[in-house]
Amino acid sequence: MRFDIITIFPEIFSSVFSGGVVKKALEKGIIEVHVHDLRAFSHDRHKQVDDRPFGGGQGMVLKPEPIFAAMEEIRRCEKTPAFLLSPQGKKLDFRYAEELAKHNQIILICGRYEGVDERVIQNLITDEISIGDYILTGGEPAAFVVIDAVSRFVPRVVGKEDSVKNDSFFTGVLEFPQYTRPREFRGMKVPEVLFSGDHSKIDFWRRRKSLEKTWLSRPDLLESRTLSQEEKKILNDIKTERKGKKDEPD
Ligand code: SAM
Repeated sequence: MRFDIITIFPEIFSSVFSGGVVKKALEKGIIEVHVHDLRAFSHDRHKQVDDRPFGGGQGMVLKPEPIFAAMEEIRRCEKTPAFLLSPQGKKLDFRYAEELAKHNQIILICGRYEGVDERVIQNLITDEISIGDYILTGGEPAAFVVIDAVSRFVPRVVGKEDSVKNDSFFTGVLEFPQYTRPREFRGMKVPEVLFSGDHSKIDFWRRRKSLEKTWLSRPDLLESRTLSQEEKKILNDIKTERKGKKDEPD
C-alpha cells in the first residue's frame, strides 16, 4: 500500500517513521510513504502557499492552486482516493482504518492555519478524516495516526496476524490484560490461571477480563455489540461481583 502525504512541513515525517512496525514495513516494501512538499507546487515567486481569508477574520488559509497542482502530479489515476485531515471529518475508528487499508494508494492532505480553501474540499477530496474532537495545529500528526492505524490492516505489516485479531475493538470489546516476566514483581503477582497450561481456562479468563474492562472503560461498545448467552451470563456475574465498588459504571 502506498501513502502520499501533502504537507508544508515535510521534515516532520523524517523521524516518525524511523522506528517500530511501520519502519519495518517500509524497509520490507510492504508499505510506501511518499512525502510531498506543498511549497514545491507553488508557482508564486515567494513559494507562498497561504493567504488571508476572504470576508476577513483571523489566520491564514491554504491556497487552492498549489494543492490542485500537487494532486494533478501525485494522483496516479482518477479513482485514487484523497483525504483531507480535518477536525470536521469522519472520525477515524477501527472499522474506518480497516476500510482505508483496502486501497492500493491513498493521498493525505495536511491542513494548517485556519484550514484549506473550500474549493479543495469540494473538488479534490474523497472524504475528510478527523482523529478526534479536538484541534491540532496541523494535519501532520493526524496523517501519522492514519498511516499507523491503517498499516496494521495491511497484510504482513504486523508480524503475527492473529495478534491483530486479539486487539481491542476487533471483536467489539477491549483486549484482555497482558503480563510478562517476572512472575512476581514488587509483590504483584501474575494471575495463577495463566500458568495453568489449561487453554480453555485461560481463554475463559481472558474473555471475562475483556468484558469486564469493556464494561468499566467503554460501556458504549457493549451497547452496539450483540452478546452471546454465555457473554451475557459472564457480564451479569461481573456486575453482581462489582456491585457497590467505586469504579462501577452508572
Ligand atoms: N479552523 C479549523 C476548524 O475550526 O475546523 C481548524 C484548523 S486546524 C488549526 C489546522 C489543521 O490541522 C486542519 O486544517 C487539519 O488539517 C488539522 N487538524 C486539526 N485538528 C484535527 C483533527 N482533530 N483531526 C484531523 N486533522 C486535524
